[in-house]
Amino acid sequence: MGQNKFKCPICGSKEYEEKIESNGILGPGGSSWVKYYTCYGCSVMFKDVNKFTKKIEKQK
Ligand SMILES: [Zn+2]
Repeated sequence: MGQNKFKCPICGSKEYEEKIESNGILGPGGSSWVKYYTCYGCSVMFKDVNKFTKKIEKQK
């Protein structure tokens, strides 16, 4: 969960959710990573928080 400088360019929400992918192994040898993010407000998917947020700034 992160709330750094995110702001959704579509709905304006400042919260997003991390979707975690794992290799299916529990315990030693298992690992997980963030596969993508979704906006809490509109459920749009994105892979890079900073780049997605900057879409707003470029529109100004
Ligand atoms: Zn949104």
